Amino acid sequence: MAEIKLRGVSKSWGDFIGVDNIDLDIRDKEFMVFLGPSGCGKTTTMRMIAGLEDPTGGDISIDGESMTDVDARDRDVAMVFQSYALYPNMSIYENIRFPLKMRGIPAGDHDRLVRQAADMVELGQYLDRKPRALSGGQRQRAALARAIVRQPQVFLMDEPLSNLDAKLRLTMRAQLKHIQRQLETTTVYVTHDQIEAMTLADRIAVMNKGKIQQLGTPDEVYNNPNHLFVAGFIGSPPMNLIPGALENGDFVGPDTRVKGAGQGSRANVVLGVRPEDMEIVPTQDGHLISKLYSLEPTGDVTLVTAWAGEQLVVAKGSRVFRQEVDTPIAFKFAPGRVFLFDGESGNRI
Ligand code: ATP
Repeated sequence: MAEIKLRGVSKSWGDFIGVDNIDLDIRDKEFMVFLGPSGCGKTTTMRMIAGLEDPTGGDISIDGESMTDVDARDRDVAMVFQSYALYPNMSIYENIRFPLKMRGIPAGDHDRLVRQAADMVELGQYLDRKPRALSGGQRQRAALARAIVRQPQVFLMDEPLSNLDAKLRLTMRAQLKHIQRQLETTTVYVTHDQIEAMTLADRIAVMNKGKIQQLGTPDEVYNNPNHLFVAGFIGSPPMNLIPGALENGDFVGPDTRVKGAGQGSRANVVLGVRPEDMEIVPTQDGHLISKLYSLEPTGDVTLVTAWAGEQLVVAKGSRVFRQEVDTPIAFKFAPGRVFLFDGESGNRI
């Protein structure tokens, strides 16, 4: 069991508030991802769970026990960092064994535990090597094995894949998810990469300016964003955000008119629509009617960029869609897939 509870957790330095009064329950066995832009407070929150940073307010508990007076080294958590932090002069075997020695685990168990952890990350045949004789991906797996080896209650991972090349990141991502499911260890994972968050998480805490803006499953944050910030942060390419107004329930914006999009009339409304929810249609059926700006074939889809007044919007068109730049183009938005936000507060309407 490892349930982590944050209650009113804050961290400030002088006047600057890095983490602002966070309440969060991380469930036993859960893969929780902290997602947000640089500086939003995700690393600080994780370091407070690890005990590497003291909160200036609030309380963190693991399995009902307050961690306030528990030293980092006495918390049953293992961390994996972006910089693998392996000891260069030790073999991979000794690197993986190190936490067992530190924790005073009986020496007779070491060999079995080290080999078990190494097998889990498929490093069994590299145990005699020094870290410099491994590839980046292998080093990251060694760092993971070192975290796994003593079977901690909690894994804390800070952008562990960000030093790997794009292809390796995909492989390691799947492997990481597989291992976490096998071990069933409660995991907190920090990233600014929304694809990583979507693919790994049971739940995502989307953070902005020291607060959790939305907490939900990947499906919930993608399909039901509660705020303009979440809508714009998640998705690739991101959601199109078109400023305008509601006029008797119709959204009216640059080159855009959507009948019955909302209720009543109000100014300063932002309409959000995802690229995959914009269908290219004959002009008379369009919600957005403008001109083509560019086409980018990616292999499986064609990214179709068009004007919406003075800004650009992106749609995912079919793999075979081709048109000349500057030709008229119209898009229909999928029913039920249009989101409205208050332009002032950013809140969903
Ligand atoms: P990144 O993805 O860039 O690591 P992050 O979301 O993890 O960002 P944090 O490292 O948690 O962000 O930092 C949150 C805020 O707190 C940042 O604005 C940062 O500058 C500030 N901060 C972090 N540590 C300190 C410190 N020791 N003193 C003052 N400010 C700090």
